[in-house]
Amino acid sequence: MTTGVNNTAIAISKPDRKFVRQVKAAGGDSVDKCFQCATCSVVCNLSPEDCPFPRKEMLWAQWGMKDKLMTDPDIWLCYQCNDCSINCPRDSKPSEVLAAIRSVAFRHFAFPGYMGTLLTKPSGLIPLLLLPIIILCAIVWQTTGGDFAPLFQASAVVDFDYFLPHGPTEMLFIIGSIHIAVFMSIGLLRFWKGMQNSWGGAVKIGFISALISTVIEIFSHSRFSSCGSARYRQIAHLLVFYGFILTAAATAMATIEMVVFHNFLGFEGHYPPFPLYHPIKICGNLGGFAIVIGVIIVMYQRITNPKNAGKAGYTMWLFIWVTGIVALSGLLCQFMRIAGIGELAYPLYFIHITTVFFLLLYSPYSQFGHMFYRTLAMVFAKSIGREAKTL
Ligand code: SF4
Ligand code: SF4
Repeated sequence: MTTGVNNTAIAISKPDRKFVRQVKAAGGDSVDKCFQCATCSVVCNLSPEDCPFPRKEMLWAQWGMKDKLMTDPDIWLCYQCNDCSINCPRDSKPSEVLAAIRSVAFRHFAFPGYMGTLLTKPSGLIPLLLLPIIILCAIVWQTTGGDFAPLFQASAVVDFDYFLPHGPTEMLFIIGSIHIAVFMSIGLLRFWKGMQNSWGGAVKIGFISALISTVIEIFSHSRFSSCGSARYRQIAHLLVFYGFILTAAATAMATIEMVVFHNFLGFEGHYPPFPLYHPIKICGNLGGFAIVIGVIIVMYQRITNPKNAGKAGYTMWLFIWVTGIVALSGLLCQFMRIAGIGELAYPLYFIHITTVFFLLLYSPYSQFGHMFYRTLAMVFAKSIGREAKTL
């Protein structure tokens, strides 16, 4: 809205108070303390020289300027290293405020929107867990005629394929992956258009070049090395990141073995369970251990050193816990199967598949999906020449 005073046009912004409440509820309750000294923008090594963050985001958040913040690539260029919060003279915790804004942005772009809301509230956890449990129980019912006995009885011979067959389970995840790709693309497209409308700017490098440069940066995690306070995060993130890549590679290779070599070509020895020395097992187990170690480091730092590591909100803790349970239950159910302890192996396997479902199928609305929004923001920033001052 504009108004004329003595022939001068003055832009008047209408604060979105609901948005301010959302940011505070998501962990940014210290935003009001900021008095705009700009120390945070000076100490942030990832902030560009021109129009730096996070000072301006603190101001926009105080004023409830939701539209500006939702399409601001800078909120995703922050790696939550906490350098700014440690040096803030007002204890305004800008790193936590930015994390809270990202969490609200996630809900803003999520499709369908109610899924984004469910993932951010503890009350949404029960229905979100019930969905995979009901679907997996239906598969067990269908394939075993309702034989849930392995979940409760001691048995020395463990056959996961009888209890929860690989075929329908793989099919479930393939259907889920298509859903993820479609719904995630809708949210990302909205975000990209929003950034273009808000920031525009002359394109300095093309999309493909910016994407390649971004992917190289992500694989090396080079931005983490610019952070001064929470250096542990580079190691922890690298472990979790490459752990996911290894486990995803193992799952893909196992599916190819089953579908191509076993089902179509009829070769023997190409169906799970594979022996521990099999390359697929080695790959999967290395990935599982890497994730568990990475998650333990993150948990330890967040609990014992919250000043340096920063406070984690509900969505962050949900992601940390689910990731840890996925990796740990996957490793343990395998070892229980080998040890012939069926009464533990079957329940652990059920927990593993349930949490894998939770992690993957809800990824467009959870902390897991952050990496896609962050990647897109980095690509956009590179394309308009918005680079960190220390890179
Ligand atoms: S968040 Fe802290 S360091 Fe940054 S401008 Fe506000 S008061 Fe200053
Ligand atoms: S948390 Fe680190 S990366 Fe994020 S704004 Fe603060 S100093 Fe910059």
